[in-house]
Amino acid sequence: MVAPASTQEVAGVVTVCARHGAGIVPQGGNTGLCGGAVPDLSGEQVLLSLSRMNRIRRVDPGNDSLVAEAGCILADVQAAAAEVDRCFPLSLAAEGSCQIGGNLSTNAGGLNVIRYGMARQQVLGLEVVLADGTVWEGLRELRKDTAGYDLKQVFIGSEGTLGIITAAALKLAPKPANPVTFLAAIRDAGDAVALLGRLRSVLPDRIDAFELISDRCFDLVARHLPDARRPFAERPGWAVLADAVEGTDEGRVEAVLASCFGDGLVVDAILAKNKAEAAGLWRLRHAIPEAERPAGYCLKHDIGVPVGRLARFLAEAKALVARLEPDARPIVFGHVGDGNLHYNVLQPAGDDGFRERGADLSRSLYDLVAKFEGTFSAEHGIGVTKKELLRTYRSEVELGLMRTLKTALDPDNRLNPGKVI
Ligand SMILES: Cc1cc2nc3c(=O)[nH]c(=O)nc-3n(C[C@H](O)[C@H](O)[C@H](O)COP(=O)(O)OP(=O)(O)OC[C@H]3O[C@@H](n4cnc5c(N)ncnc54)[C@H](O)[C@@H]3O)c2cc1C
Repeated sequence: MVAPASTQEVAGVVTVCARHGAGIVPQGGNTGLCGGAVPDLSGEQVLLSLSRMNRIRRVDPGNDSLVAEAGCILADVQAAAAEVDRCFPLSLAAEGSCQIGGNLSTNAGGLNVIRYGMARQQVLGLEVVLADGTVWEGLRELRKDTAGYDLKQVFIGSEGTLGIITAAALKLAPKPANPVTFLAAIRDAGDAVALLGRLRSVLPDRIDAFELISDRCFDLVARHLPDARRPFAERPGWAVLADAVEGTDEGRVEAVLASCFGDGLVVDAILAKNKAEAAGLWRLRHAIPEAERPAGYCLKHDIGVPVGRLARFLAEAKALVARLEPDARPIVFGHVGDGNLHYNVLQPAGDDGFRERGADLSRSLYDLVAKFEGTFSAEHGIGVTKKELLRTYRSEVELGLMRTLKTALDPDNRLNPGKVI
C-alpha cells in the first residue's frame, strides 16, 4: 500500500507502477461494499490510499464553492461548508468515513438526492491523475462553461478505472432551514408517490428527504434497538419518513397530512415536535441495515425504478417472491423520492439452504427491474460483485462505448484492473 500526500506524489506512484507493469487500486474510505477498492489476489496490484490527501484547499463563499482534496472525509467537507454558513448537501450513513474522492468515483447518492441530485450534480471541476502519470488540471469553479466535452463527468462514477481523482471543486448550497420531519403510515406503497405529489404541490423543491419503509423493518429495528418501539399501534403496511422545509409557509406540512388523512391516503402520522423527536424518527430508519444482520442471511438489491412505476413494480415483486420463495421475508426500504429502493429478502426462518437458492431469486428480481426499465445498481457502483449484471443488463452498444473509453484513457489496463468492465 502506498499513501501519497500530494498530487505530484500520486503522479509519481502511477509513473513507477506503469514502468513496472503493476495495477493500481485507488482506495478512499473503503465503504463501497462491492469490492471496487480492494486489490485482487495476484499480488501484482498496488493499493493507493488517498487518506493523506485530506486538505480543504480553499473555500469561496462568494462563489458558493469549495476545493477539497480527494481524501477528505465527507463529514469534514460538510463541516467546512458549515463554517462559512453554507451546506454541502451530499449525505449518507457512511459520511463519517467515506471520502469525497470515493463519493465522486461511485457517483454517490444518499438521502438528499431528491432535492440536490447525486454527487455528479455537485461538482464544478476535478483534478485527475491519468494512467500515464499526467495530471489533468480541471479544477475550474465555473457554473457555466461550454468549452468542449465535459471531461469531469467521464471520471465521476468510473470507480477508479479511468483516472485517479486527487481534488474536486464542489458546489455549496445555502444552509437549509430546519425541516419539518414526519413519519406517515400508509396502506400501499403507491400512496407514497401520491403523498409526494401532494407535498410537492405546496412545497416544490423543498423536500429534503422522502423515504419509504415497509412495516417489517420496524419489527427488526424494535428487536435490535433495546429502547425502540414500533411507531404505530396498527400495521398499515408501509410508512414514509420525510423532511420538508416549510420556511415561512409554516403549517403547510400539517395541512397536507390532514387533507391526506381525510382522503384515507395517510392512516396515521407522527409529526416531530423538535430536533430530538426528529432524530428519534431518523434513528429508526438508519438502524434498519444493522437490524437486518442478526435476523439471518439477507439477499440485497440496490435497485432503481422510475418513480411513477414503483407501485406496480412493488406489487409484481411481492408476487414474484411469494411464488419463488413463499416463506422468505422482503425487507423493503429506501429513497423512494428518487426511485431507489433496497429490495432485500430475508431468509425463511431456519432455512439455511436459502443462501444457495438466492442467486435464482436475485436474477428474477433483476429481470423484473429490467422489465420496468430500472437499474440493478442505483447505489454503490459495480466493483467486482456486479460486473456480471452489467454485462447482462446493458446493451452491447453501451458496453462497447465503455470499453472504448477505458482503452482510450487506460490502454495498458493499469487503473483498477478487473473492476467495472
Ligand atoms: C452504512 C453505509 C451506508 C451507505 N449509504 C449509501 C447511500 O446512501 N448512497 C450511496 O450512494 N452509497 C452508500 N454507501 C456506499 C458508499 O458509502 C459509497 O459508495 C461511497 O461513495 C464510497 O466512498 P469511499 O470513500 O468509501 O470509496 P471506496 O469504497 O474506498 O471506493 C469506491 C470506489 O471508488 C474508487 N475510488 C476511491 N477513491 C478514489 C479516487 N480518489 N480516485 C479514483 N477512484 C477512487 C475505488 O477504487 C472504488 O472502486 C453506503 C455504505 C455504507 C457502509
